[in-house]
Amino acid sequence: MTTPVFVPSLQADHCPSVDLSDGIPAIEHPETPERIDAIVTALNAVPDLDLIEISEMAEEQVLQLHDRDYVEFLMAIAEQLHDQQEYIPSIFHPDLSNSPLRFQGGMYCREIGTPIGARTIHAALNTAATALSAASRMLDTGNDAIALCRPPGHHAGKRRYGGYCYFNNAYLAAKPLAGSSRCCPVLDIDYHLGDGSIEFSNSSTPYFSLHADPWQNYPYLDSQEQLDYPHASLETLRFGTDLSQYQLQLDTLLDKLTNYQPDYAIVSLGLDTLASDTIQDDDINLQVKDFYTVGQQIGIKIQTPTLLLLEGGYDLLNLGQCMMEFLNGFQAARNGSIQR
Ligand SMILES: [Zn+2]
Repeated sequence: MTTPVFVPSLQADHCPSVDLSDGIPAIEHPETPERIDAIVTALNAVPDLDLIEISEMAEEQVLQLHDRDYVEFLMAIAEQLHDQQEYIPSIFHPDLSNSPLRFQGGMYCREIGTPIGARTIHAALNTAATALSAASRMLDTGNDAIALCRPPGHHAGKRRYGGYCYFNNAYLAAKPLAGSSRCCPVLDIDYHLGDGSIEFSNSSTPYFSLHADPWQNYPYLDSQEQLDYPHASLETLRFGTDLSQYQLQLDTLLDKLTNYQPDYAIVSLGLDTLASDTIQDDDINLQVKDFYTVGQQIGIKIQTPTLLLLEGGYDLLNLGQCMMEFLNGFQAARNGSIQR
């Protein structure tokens, strides 16, 4: 069976220049258009995939998930920038609405690693539409789909951007898949906790995440309340976790997920658990070939139609191969041929 791969055609319009995450402006931003190029190049070699470019933008649909003032702020900022300009807030406060600041981004963001360029929001809306197109196809066909979302989305909350994310692609797609009476859990296997995604968790779209310690890594939690959601199940990976330990913790989450008896599922597929990904501080020790095993494990346990939706992953040399391994393992599980 051919699996559709939805690709945002405007993703390269978002090209952040520097990552100020550690306050040092010399770091080249890792969240680049080449990430998608590397994956598409690798996927062209995989049989039974059908690449579909999406050019629409989800201007109206993002309002079903994010607050209107937040969306309008993002659009207004982008409109006022020149081509080479980037906006990064410098004053942070929960409410800046009465401040004399010309731009009030510091109330929608709490870090400086996620710049907004003139065409950033345009690209983020295009990626949101890509996730929604994949969900729509799944509702039509009842089959799996893949969405190569960029910029990623799992750090974007109801009225908050950050962690290279602006709109929450996974939870935008979860809405139609869950509908009014179905269940569509989100399984997040990105290296980082999706502090945006967890905000949207509920009984019909529960959240399951396997991640590096979120107190010691982005999003650098500062209160237990940020984890206190009744329909979120979290597993923290220890420093130096290898595949066998990873599989045990993934299995724990998958058991909890299947207890919800999902109708559809979404995998927030971050590939930054690869040992060579320089974004890591905690040495999660997955190798390229391990992604086959992880894909297979998920494909065996989650039997319902599943959307594989890209989140992070920054090792350009190995990113395409990791995605290919994951898909091959996932497809092998789907086809019932699980030996390697
Ligand atoms: Zn990540």
